[in-house]
Amino acid sequence: MKITEVTNDFFECDDGWNNIIYEALDRIKALDSNIEVYQIKEKFGGLRIYLGAYDVKYDDAIEQIILEAETKAWDTCEKCGQPGTLRNDIGWILTLCDNCYQEVLERKKNRGY
Ligand SMILES: [Zn+2]
Repeated sequence: MKITEVTNDFFECDDGWNNIIYEALDRIKALDSNIEVYQIKEKFGGLRIYLGAYDVKYDDAIEQIILEAETKAWDTCEKCGQPGTLRNDIGWILTLCDNCYQEVLERKKNRGY
């Protein structure tokens, strides 16, 4: 999808990272508004942004933008956007704040596994 047409419907992660993603996309768009975005998703608790081809002169700048977004996401709850940390004891790996983490633990307990 063209970067100018990407909205959060396209993001394969929860809404807590929306601001981080939009900020990154805005900065990339400012360099080149014709870039294709292949996929934006959560993987192993981290944010991944996959882009199509672009001019090599933007390599460093775009790499830096994506790195900053990914780094921020590691410290941001994927569900609500509050400060979070990586949780790997809930059956899968997610970056969550204390509240969302507790909710997941409760739900897990209520299901009995
Ligand atoms: Zn949260």
